[in-house]
Amino acid sequence: MLSPGMFRDAIRKLSLRKKLAILASVGVFLPVLLLTYLQYQSLTELQNKTKGAFKDNLRQGLTIVENQMKQRLEDIANQTLNPIGSLNLSSAEELEKYFANVKRSHSEVEEIFVYPSRGDQSDVLSAFNRARLAQSFVDRNRKYLFVPNTRQGAYLFYPLPDEKSGFAGLSLSERFINDDLVAGTITKILDRHHADPALPPLAFTISDENNHVLYSNAAAQNGYLFESNFDRPFSNWKAGVGLKNTNIDELARSSFLHSAGATILVLVVLLGGIALTIRATDREARLAQAKSNFVSNVSHELKTPLSLLSLFSEILELGRVNSEEKKTEYYRILRHESLRLNKIIDNILDFSKIEAGRKTYDFADADMAEVIEKVLASYRYQFVNAGFDIQTNIQPDLPPVSIDREAMSQAISNLLDNAIKYSRDVKQLSITTQTRGPDLSIEIADRGIGIPRAEQAKVFEKFYRVGNGLVHDVKGSGLGLSLVQHIIEAHQGTVSLESDVGKGSRFTILLPLARKRADT
Ligand code: ADP
Repeated sequence: MLSPGMFRDAIRKLSLRKKLAILASVGVFLPVLLLTYLQYQSLTELQNKTKGAFKDNLRQGLTIVENQMKQRLEDIANQTLNPIGSLNLSSAEELEKYFANVKRSHSEVEEIFVYPSRGDQSDVLSAFNRARLAQSFVDRNRKYLFVPNTRQGAYLFYPLPDEKSGFAGLSLSERFINDDLVAGTITKILDRHHADPALPPLAFTISDENNHVLYSNAAAQNGYLFESNFDRPFSNWKAGVGLKNTNIDELARSSFLHSAGATILVLVVLLGGIALTIRATDREARLAQAKSNFVSNVSHELKTPLSLLSLFSEILELGRVNSEEKKTEYYRILRHESLRLNKIIDNILDFSKIEAGRKTYDFADADMAEVIEKVLASYRYQFVNAGFDIQTNIQPDLPPVSIDREAMSQAISNLLDNAIKYSRDVKQLSITTQTRGPDLSIEIADRGIGIPRAEQAKVFEKFYRVGNGLVHDVKGSGLGLSLVQHIIEAHQGTVSLESDVGKGSRFTILLPLARKRADT
C-alpha cells in the first residue's frame, strides 16, 4: 500500500512540468469533461423541449390570428351596426339613407338590414338564433355576433339595445372573408414571422368544416405539426400549421448543433487558455530555476580566473621563477585571465543594461574582416595553448557594414569562447565570412560536443544552459548566446544554429549589408 508519506515523496520528485500536467488533468480536465457531459445531456433534453416549445409558439400564433380577425370584425360592427341603435327605427327613410351610406363606405358589406323591418327573413332569423345560442360573439362586450360561411354568406348581427325591436345585421362578401379577413390577417403575421431569418418558414392552411380551403400559403413538408379548430365564433374553421422546407426534428437538431458548437468553442478557448497559462507558468518556473543556477554558475566562472591570478602573481612575487621564458609565460597567463575576467563581467553588465533597456549601440561603417582578425588575434595564445586548429576563410574585398564594433567583437568573442569551451578531443574551429545575397554571413563552426535538437532553440534564452551533466560540465553563466542574439538583432541581422550531438555546432550570423537608415 502507498502511504501518504510515500505519496508526498513521489510527488516531490516529479518535475514541475509533470506536476503541472497532473494538476491540469485532475483540477481542470476532469471537471471540464464532467461539465461537457452534463452540458451534452442538458442539450439533448433541450432538443426535446425545443419541439414542445415550437408547438406552443404555433399555438400562440394561432390565437393572435384569431384575435386580430375578431378585432377586424368588431371594428366593422362598431362602425356600421352600432349607430343603428340610436336611429329612429320607425323611419324607413332614415334607415334606407343610413344603409346606403354604409354600403358606400364599406365595400365589404353586401347587405345591411334591421329585423323585423325586412320582408321574408326566416333564414336570417334562424342564423341569428343559432349564433345567439352558440354565443358566437366577436367582442369582449358580447355585443356583436358573427356567423361565418352560411350558404348566404357571413353575417354580423347586433341585437338592438331594446330587445323587442329585434336586431340589426349585415352580410359580408365572400371575397372579404377570404382575401381580407383570413388571408390579410395571416399574411401580416406570417410576414412578421418570416422577417426573422432565424425562424423557419411556416406553411399555414385554413379550411372550413367541409375541408374547403379558405387560405393556404404553402404545403407543409412533413404534414402538419399542429392542427386545431379556432375558438368561437370561428369554430368551424380549422387551422393546420407545418414547416415549409424542413421538419421539426431537423429544426431541433440544428438548434442542438448550434448550442453544441458554441459549447465546443467555449471549451476550446478554455483549454487553450489553460494550456497557455501552464506554458507561461512553466516558463516562469524555468526562469526562476535558471536565475538561481545563474548565481552559482557565475560565482564558479569568476573563481577560476581569480584563483589563477592569485596563484601566478604569488609565484612571481616570491621570485621563485628563474627563467625569463617562464616569467613571460606567467605574465601572459595573468593578462589572459584578467581579460577573461573582464569579458565575464562585460557580459553580465551588458546583460543587465539590456534587461533595463539601457543598452545603446554606436553604428559606423567598418571592415568586418578586420574586426574578426582582431578578435582572433586576442585568442591566439588560447588557441595555441589548447591545441586548436583554426581555419579562417574570409572573402577578400568584403563590402563595409554598418556595425557597433565593440558589440560585434563581443558577439564573435562569445561564439569563439563557446567553441573552445564545448570542444573535447577534436579541437577544430573554422570561421568563414562572405557575402550572401543582400547579407554578410559569418559562420563559426566547431567539432565539439554539439547541442541536442530539442535544446537548440532554448540555448538563446537568457540563463539557459544545456545543464545536464552528461552533456557537459563546463562552467558558464548562460548569458553568452542570449547576448549574441540581442546584439545581432540590434543590427537587424539573424543568428541561427545547426548542430549534431557529438559532431559539432555551426552558428551563422547574417548581417544585412544595407541597413535601413531609420534604425541606425
Ligand atoms: P554558457 O555561459 O553556459 O556558455 P551560453 O549562452 O553561451 O552560456 O550558451 C548556452 C548553452 O548552449 C551552453 O550552456 C551550452 O550548453 C550550449 N552551447 C553554446 N555553444 C555551444 C557549442 N559551441 N557547442 C556545444 N554547446 C554549446
